Amino acid sequence: MPHYDHLCKKCKKPFVVEMKISEVDKKKVSCPECKSNDVTREVTNKSFTSESINRYVWDK
Ligand SMILES: [Zn+2]
Repeated sequence: MPHYDHLCKKCKKPFVVEMKISEVDKKKVSCPECKSNDVTREVTNKSFTSESINRYVWDK
């Protein structure tokens, strides 16, 4: 499943969401930290390998 990099505008936390390509525009992504829906999707191809970045699996 592809990973999508996101950044929460509220708490400035970057996080990664796994979801199907077909779900990208349908899912409401919320920040795993503060539950805010005010998030931006990062359009980069770099992969996060840093331990400091939370991995968030969207399974709902
Ligand atoms: Zn947040």
